[in-house]
Amino acid sequence: MNISIFDLFKIGIGPSSSHTVGPMIGAKNFVDSLKDRGDLPKTANIRVELFGSLGATGVGHGTGPAVILGLEGNLPATIDPNYMPVRLEEIESQQALLLDNQYKIQFNSETDLHYIYQALEQHPNAMRITARDAQGIILYSQEYFSIGGGFILDKEQFEQSSDNAEAANSVDIPYPFESMEELLAICNDNNLSIYQVMLANECQHRSIDEVRSAILDIWHAMQGCVERGCLQSGILPGGLNVKRRAPELYTKLTSRPEAALRDPLAALDWVNLYALAVNEENAAGSKVVTAPTNGAAGIIPAVLHYYMRFYFSGSNTGVIKFLLTAAAIGMLCKRNASISGAEVGCQGEVGSACAMAAAGLAAVTGGTPEQIENAAEIAMEHNLGLTCDPIAGLVQIPCIERNAIAAVKAINASRMAINEDGQHFVSLDKVIKTMRDTGADMQSKYKETSLGGLAVNVTEC
Ligand code: SF4
Repeated sequence: MNISIFDLFKIGIGPSSSHTVGPMIGAKNFVDSLKDRGDLPKTANIRVELFGSLGATGVGHGTGPAVILGLEGNLPATIDPNYMPVRLEEIESQQALLLDNQYKIQFNSETDLHYIYQALEQHPNAMRITARDAQGIILYSQEYFSIGGGFILDKEQFEQSSDNAEAANSVDIPYPFESMEELLAICNDNNLSIYQVMLANECQHRSIDEVRSAILDIWHAMQGCVERGCLQSGILPGGLNVKRRAPELYTKLTSRPEAALRDPLAALDWVNLYALAVNEENAAGSKVVTAPTNGAAGIIPAVLHYYMRFYFSGSNTGVIKFLLTAAAIGMLCKRNASISGAEVGCQGEVGSACAMAAAGLAAVTGGTPEQIENAAEIAMEHNLGLTCDPIAGLVQIPCIERNAIAAVKAINASRMAINEDGQHFVSLDKVIKTMRDTGADMQSKYKETSLGGLAVNVTEC
């Protein structure tokens, strides 16, 4: 299997990898196609249709604005979050946008942007964009499928491979694997750690220095996100009136170091803080690292910050080892089940991130490949069945708190595994298969549609 660590950890914008990041990339791809076809100057109208989960929760997830900004040629990794609301207001007031930041067309989000609850048969997260000329004749139309974690496929790519993006990026790698069993065999046959296998594979894409430097860029983006989240106060956007909790907790923790030293569980307060800070930033549409999705973006940074703050051995080398190991687990979850809440519920998002974080921590605390597998398996096993039911379609409740709970769970899973010998009853492959099967049996109202669970049982304020 061939998917890069940089496909799983992407610097982007909140609040959702599948509902914000993927659609923005899809819209940008659409404009690039129009450009390649020579149709950009002829385009007079764009119609956007968001289907299924994108239609049901697209308003709360900011899908429409993400598509509009993608049509202007922006990408999640490079767009300035401060620029977004300003530009969107201009577009709204002028009822016009600049295709590829150069061709002005009329655009009215009331009539040109459609949220449609019904899903296309191929996938629960789909969108169709159609360009017409001044006579109303279709110049180009394309369907895109946002398959989780910011991965986007057009109709042809989706049909070519039911499994996708990695096939399109395929290059030969020294240690291909499709299951944990295969990965363990590679480790044992070659006397390598999981992160060393991953590093060797990554070095087929770029030099070792580039790989290390790009991984540290991801870490620095995670740190920046935590720092911002600890300082921003106020109410999160969207209308639920959810208050940011990270700044007050940060003030509390930094003003009571002595008390914290006497509390054996004080470290957990910091883990909670890190996760809250990231997920509040995500909910506010700020810069975050998908890890492996935006909704679950706080878990891995929280556990990594915990490692760096509370372990004497914390180092950049450890960060690289942690993230490469976590990525191996994320690849297996994506490859053999899903990391999309719209496909398998929250077990695919928070469950996968929890397993990834547990594996990463086990790796930097001396775990063998078998202990690392055990850590990931424990973490995933106890997220099985977790539904996705965000209130009002916003990635706030239960998502923000859920990341803090899962980060603590990841630490515990890692500690349990490290304190044993690596032998365990249930394999990670079996748990991932169970996650996939459970997701297939889960009713669609629990899969990022906000039609069930907390979303219908908690009254919006
Ligand atoms: S409930 Fe889980 S899967 Fe659903 S939006 Fe929130 S974090 Fe994502």
